[in-house]
Amino acid sequence: MAKQGNKKNKAFSWDYAPALEGISHLNIKEKYDLFIDGKFVKPSSCKYFDTINPATEERISQIAHGSEIDVDKAVKAARRAYVNVWSKTSPSERAKYIYRIARLMQERARELAVIETLDSGKVITESRDIDIPLACNHFFYYAGWADKLEYAFPNRKVESLGVVGQITPWNFPLLMAAWKIAPALAAGNTVVLKPAETTSLTALKLAEIIKDSGLPNGVVNIITGYGDTGAAIVNHKDINKIAFTGSTQVGKIIQKSIAGTDKRVTLELGGKSANIILDDAPIDQAVEGIVNGIFFNQGHVCSAGSRLFVQEGVADIVINKLKRRMDKLIIGDPLDKNTDVGAINSKEQLKTINDYIKIGKDQGAKIHQSSSKAPKKGYYCVPTIFTDVAQSNRIVQEEIFGPVLTVQTFRTIDEVIQKANNSPYGLAAGIWSDKGSRVFNLSSKLKAGVIWANTYNKFDPTSPFGGYKESGFGREGGLHGLRAYVNLK
Ligand code: NAP
Ligand code: MG
Repeated sequence: MAKQGNKKNKAFSWDYAPALEGISHLNIKEKYDLFIDGKFVKPSSCKYFDTINPATEERISQIAHGSEIDVDKAVKAARRAYVNVWSKTSPSERAKYIYRIARLMQERARELAVIETLDSGKVITESRDIDIPLACNHFFYYAGWADKLEYAFPNRKVESLGVVGQITPWNFPLLMAAWKIAPALAAGNTVVLKPAETTSLTALKLAEIIKDSGLPNGVVNIITGYGDTGAAIVNHKDINKIAFTGSTQVGKIIQKSIAGTDKRVTLELGGKSANIILDDAPIDQAVEGIVNGIFFNQGHVCSAGSRLFVQEGVADIVINKLKRRMDKLIIGDPLDKNTDVGAINSKEQLKTINDYIKIGKDQGAKIHQSSSKAPKKGYYCVPTIFTDVAQSNRIVQEEIFGPVLTVQTFRTIDEVIQKANNSPYGLAAGIWSDKGSRVFNLSSKLKAGVIWANTYNKFDPTSPFGGYKESGFGREGGLHGLRAYVNLK
């Protein structure tokens, strides 16, 4: 239920009436099979696992556990489809299929948004206004490139790679599938994709859409399962490229597994991004940007602005305003349109976040948590900030992947560049300043793949996204995203 949780502020605020998104229109099956060669088929092991709604801890459906045998069937189907059909389909025909998938996704946008929220715990306003429209837009965008590859890469001969294996994480389930499938198809490849085990439902709904679109059988195959299913894709001999988005830890395992093979690889990994507030920044906008940077999607964003750096002259005012804003955040049912902070994706992830909160306290950092109350049932974490942190603290160095922010101050630009770059990661950064020259100076010196100025966490299909250092290599989105799925001669 949506509640204005801060008792102290009760006199100045009010409770919003609940505004729950309806779920009566949903058609969720009790059990989902694997999508291989254009059909839903039972897993060879006959094993299924539960997918849980993290906001209620209740089972939504059961998902097939794909084994090595199933992955092999899917790769064979993808190879047949590549050799016999897709590599012979004209680029303009390919474009029509991709465009049709985008249109069908748009038609089912409400259903996709509600399922995403039920399965992942993210708030409906995000899945409705960000995840699903952006996922559709990736298909529209790459549909446009399919018959223009010679303009995308002028004076080069463009070849598709063949069969690509794609593995996605749980934080933007449908969007990550779209980031991967749309450019792969536009470039003429066929696909075997494994979604994350806790959030497979929208990828399976996408499989239904792909079936309805009439895309030739085997061009896209969706194999659900655990890490072992992902490893079976990575290690399959007849796959030409692996596209992985997930943790740096699993990314390193994948890189080792494919060393010495001729598989191409792109790895989109973790982050610990710096959000930097200079003393001439528009303070109120910057505070909103901090909140959006770390509490958006419960901090389950690879580019989350999880390290805040505030210039000393404005530190007190920024931190005080941030604390007041945190107290106003509504934590609760992700299906309620008033909710700001939804549920943590899984019990395991909630434990990881709580362990880091304990580490932060044990290492001597000062904690402040939002006074808003979280529901008793479900996996919830109250927005948390740590001040008085040292650069060497684990909560400053390691990715927490939850609504937990560390706050440091700085005096000079050189100091903040040095501190911000002192991280094994380099995915994104934010800069807040009134002066373009200060923004350009800083952005040229930060080691981060994406840098936002006076905004945060904005994504667009035309713009490449990816990291430096242990945040991975390769880019998704834009022309760069297409480049990852072609050979140029
Ligand atoms: P994860 O644990 O690395 O899992 C990612 C995917 O890999 C899941 O589908 C997972 O399956 C599978 N997997 C696990 N072990 C595997 C193995 N040995 N071989 C092949 N696949 C394996 O990551 P996550 O917890 O789902 O996602 C959070 C991470 O993703 C964070 O670090 C975040 O920063 C990163 N991320 C990066 C970007 C980017 O663009 N750079 C975007 C989004 C997220 P299971 O689900 O069954 O474990
Ligand atoms: Mg789930």
